[in-house]
Amino acid sequence: MPSSRCFSVEIIRFGHSWWINWDRSMYYERNDTAAKTRTTTLNEELGQIEYIFSDKTGTLTQNIMTFNKCSVGGKSYGDLLDSRGEPLEIKEDTKKLDFSWNPMYEPSFVFYDGSLLAAVRRGEPQVCLLFTVLALCHTVMPEIKDGKLEYQAQSPDEAALVGAARNFGFVFKSRTPTTITIEVQGQQEIYELLCILDFNNVRKRMSDILAKMKSRHHAGDPPSGGAPGGAMDVVSVTDPGQTSETYRMRNINNGAFGVPHDGTTVLEDSELSGFALVINGHSLVFALEEKMELLFLEVGCMCKAVICCRVTPLQKALVVDLVKKHKKAVTLAIGDGANDVSMIKTAHIGVGISGQEGMQAVLSSDFALAQFRYLERLLLVHGRWSYFRMCKFLEYFFYKNFAFTLCHFWFAFYCGFSAQVG
Ligand SMILES: [Mg+2]
Repeated sequence: MPSSRCFSVEIIRFGHSWWINWDRSMYYERNDTAAKTRTTTLNEELGQIEYIFSDKTGTLTQNIMTFNKCSVGGKSYGDLLDSRGEPLEIKEDTKKLDFSWNPMYEPSFVFYDGSLLAAVRRGEPQVCLLFTVLALCHTVMPEIKDGKLEYQAQSPDEAALVGAARNFGFVFKSRTPTTITIEVQGQQEIYELLCILDFNNVRKRMSDILAKMKSRHHAGDPPSGGAPGGAMDVVSVTDPGQTSETYRMRNINNGAFGVPHDGTTVLEDSELSGFALVINGHSLVFALEEKMELLFLEVGCMCKAVICCRVTPLQKALVVDLVKKHKKAVTLAIGDGANDVSMIKTAHIGVGISGQEGMQAVLSSDFALAQFRYLERLLLVHGRWSYFRMCKFLEYFFYKNFAFTLCHFWFAFYCGFSAQVG
């Protein structure tokens, strides 16, 4: 009997795997890549995931940077809102802004929110200052290819920001060792470049000092009107010395951590539900020490999200292992590069993205996807249905065996437990 059950379970699991492989909603046409189930035994566990560990670079960003939103003077631009002020979903047929009035525009640039363009056309000082700064404060080099202006940037985010300024009419034209030339709404402006302070991890910003203006822009600077909407306060742990201090923090007043001297007040879950914990690799070394790891886990689980930045592949695996070991929960790790392999192998379920960083992650995974966004469907649709089907099957299996065995058992009273057949 057990062998027939195992065989039937395997048939169902095999079927689930094919449903996942054949799902057109998880097929990525551009790369001609469908979802692939590399193991048949974990389908029903997809519906029971409690903790997801995700790589960022490549997995989430695809290493493609686009200018989608900005906040100027406390006002958020980039979302399309309906008449009630609710954000509208951007679909393929959503109307894109027309930048063809700008002779330097790039046809590939896409933006939907007309209020930002209207603010530029009205000449709103803060919006114009933002784009002027974006056009001036960077290390991009311009070049003319086939008569067209193109940018060579060290990083994709620089290219995205300078490109956005260009499309909104603040065109970075050329640079010499001492000057930067931009074109603002058709008018040429030349700035004398006095000094460049390169980006570094201590200042977390780069600065240009120019003859007529001092500019400083940094993506992490809080906007003057408070953070618009992107919902959580961030508790940042970037200094190894802070690690133990921060974990002793036990109350929150108006979004700020406080440190009571007795350290005895225990946080209610709800108090931290809107917080994210950011911890870097150096601090994680201390956080994962034996005497600290449970405190790290406790604080991490109270937060809405935990971001571990600049960590080694081994540390990724240790964090997964920490949750797996102490929370007794089903975990999933998703990544796209060779540095995610240890994390993918440690979690109960490993998902590999067949992206631009090779196939190592896919080869060590249980499920391979072409895009991160397909994870939602894999877990909430296939995971849910696999779990339901397996439960139904086991209920039916129990019912069938019970009915089958009961007849024999009942007949045994009549045949006196002999071997007589009915
Ligand atoms: Mg990666």
